[in-house]
Amino acid sequence: MSPNVSDGVTSFADLGLRPELLNALSGLGYEEPTPIQREAIPPLLQERDLVGQAATGTGKTAAFALPVLQRMPGDGRGAGPAVLVLVPTRELAVQVSQAFHTYGRALGVRVLPIYGGQPIGWQVKALGRGVDVVVATPGRALDHIGRQTLRLRDVETVVLDEADEMLDMGFADDIEEILQETPEDRQTVLFSATLPPRIEGLTGRYLRDPIRIQMGREAAAPGEAPLVRQSAYVVARAHKPAALGRVLDVEAPTAAIVFCRTRDEVDQLTENLNGRGYRAEALHGGMSQEHRDRVMGRLRSGTAELLIATDVAARGLDIEQLTHVVNYDVPSASDSYVHRIGRVGRAGREGVAITLAEPREHRMLKAIERATKQRIPVEKVPTIADLRARRLELTRATLQESLLGDDLEHFRAVVEPLAEEFDVMEVALAAVKLAYESSGAATDEEEIPEVAQRTGREGRDRGEATGRRDRRGRAPAQGMTRLFFGVGRSGGIRPQDLVGAIAGESHLSGRDIGAIEIADRFSLVEVPESAADEVIRALRRSTIKGRKATVRRERDTANKRSG
Ligand code: AMP
Repeated sequence: MSPNVSDGVTSFADLGLRPELLNALSGLGYEEPTPIQREAIPPLLQERDLVGQAATGTGKTAAFALPVLQRMPGDGRGAGPAVLVLVPTRELAVQVSQAFHTYGRALGVRVLPIYGGQPIGWQVKALGRGVDVVVATPGRALDHIGRQTLRLRDVETVVLDEADEMLDMGFADDIEEILQETPEDRQTVLFSATLPPRIEGLTGRYLRDPIRIQMGREAAAPGEAPLVRQSAYVVARAHKPAALGRVLDVEAPTAAIVFCRTRDEVDQLTENLNGRGYRAEALHGGMSQEHRDRVMGRLRSGTAELLIATDVAARGLDIEQLTHVVNYDVPSASDSYVHRIGRVGRAGREGVAITLAEPREHRMLKAIERATKQRIPVEKVPTIADLRARRLELTRATLQESLLGDDLEHFRAVVEPLAEEFDVMEVALAAVKLAYESSGAATDEEEIPEVAQRTGREGRDRGEATGRRDRRGRAPAQGMTRLFFGVGRSGGIRPQDLVGAIAGESHLSGRDIGAIEIADRFSLVEVPESAADEVIRALRRSTIKGRKATVRRERDTANKRSG
C-alpha cells in the first residue's frame, strides 16, 4: 500500500462514517484517519474479509472497531453478540473493549471483555443480560461456549486481533474451535504484526477472498529517508513527560517540534512542559489561522523553543531553525515517520530525531526500521546524574566562550577584593555554581524507572533460553516466585503453552512471566510473587493443553527432592 500521509485528502467524514462516530472521534481529538484506517475502513464497511499486517501503534483497533460500530443498530438487541473479537491477553481485552466503548458510546453499544482470572459467574450474568460486542481471550471464550453461556449463532463479524501472538501462545486449536461455532457467512478480520505461514494457513481456512493490507512494508525510496541522528527511548506512558524533559535538557535543541497523536495530547503536553519551565506552544487543527500565525511567529523569533503539534497542523510548515523532531508516540506508519523527520537535517544542517515508545510499541519501531532501512538505536533515558553532568558540561562551555570572547575587565572589581580574602580557585567555584544554577530548566529529582524493552514474544524466548540452563536450586529473580506445574516435555508441553495458559487464565500478560524451565515430567515457571496465588487458583481450575495439572509453589518440589 502507499498511504499518502502528506496530502491528507481523506478525513473520517470522507470515509462515510455515521455522525455518532464522527462526533466521538472529534471529541477524542483524532484529526484524521491513520494510514491503516484509511485503507481498511472502506472494504470493512463493504463487509469484506480482511488480513491486516499492523502492529500496536498503527491505529488498528479503530480500523476494525469503527466499521462494525457503523453497522450496529442503535436499538437492535440481538440474543447473542454480533461481534466477537479474540485477543491474546487480558490486557488487550480490556483495551479493545474500552476502545469500542469510547467510539460507540453514543450508539449505546454494550461491550463485554471476558478473560481468565475474573470470576466466571460475573461474566455469565453479564452475558445473560445481553451484549453486542464480546472481546475475549480464546480459553475463556471456549469455556463459556462449553457452558452455553456464550452463543455465537448471531455473530456477524469475528476479529482475530494480534493473531500471531495468539498462535505463539498456543491458542491455535482454541481459535479454530471457536470459529467453527460461528455462522459460515460471517465477516472475518485478522490483524497480526507478522504473517508467518501458520497465519496464512488460518487465513486460507477461515477467510473468504480477503483484502490484504500491509503496513510498515513499504521501503523508503533511496535518499528519501534523510540522514538524521535518530534514537528512541522506551518509557512507560506515565513517565513520558518527565522523560521528554530529560531528553530535551540533554539535547538542548535550538528549536524542536514534538508530534502528538491527538489534540488533547497536544494541549496536555504543552501545559505540562510549560509547567516544567520550557517555552512550549501548541498547534493543532482546532485553532484559527490567526492563532496559528501567532504561534509560528513566536517560534521563529525564538520566544518559544518547542512546538507541540499534530501531523495535520504541522503540514506545510517550514521552520528554518528546527534542529530536533520528537515523536511523542511512535508514528502510525513508517512513511509518516520519514515525513516527520524530514523536517530537520536539510541543506547540510544537523538534525536529530527522537522517538518515545511505550514498551508495547516496540514492534512498530522495528517495522519502521525495516521500512526505512535505518537503525533507530534505543537509548537509556538520561538519569539525574547524566543530567547534572550535561549541565556542568554546558556551563563549562559557556564559561569557555565567555573567557575567549567577552570583555571581562568590568568584573575585575568583583574578583580582586574577594581574592584578597579567598583563594582564586574558590572564587571561581562560587561563580561557576551561580552560573550553573541559573542555567538549568526545572529538573524533577525523581528517577524514571527503566523499562525492559522487550515484547511478549522476546520475553518468552528469553524464558526458554534461561530454561535451558538449570535454574533449579537458584533463587528466582527478585520479586518473582517459581511455580511447579505437573506437566512437562513428555506431555508435549512447550514454553508457549505455559505462557498461554497463565496469560489466558490470570491477569498476567506474557511479558510479566519470567524464566521457564521444562523438564520431562514437570515445568517450573517464574511469575511475580504478587500474582502467584491467583495463578495457582486459576490454573487449578483449568487445563494446560487439555490436561489437568498440579500447580503449586516450587518450594514443595525442593522439599520433595531433598526428602
Ligand atoms: P492501536 O494501534 O489501535 O493500539 O492505537 C494506537 C493509539 O493511537 C491509541 O492510543 C489510539 O487511541 C490512537 N489512535 C488511533 N487512531 C487514531 C487517529 N486517527 N488519530 C489519533 N490517534 C489515534
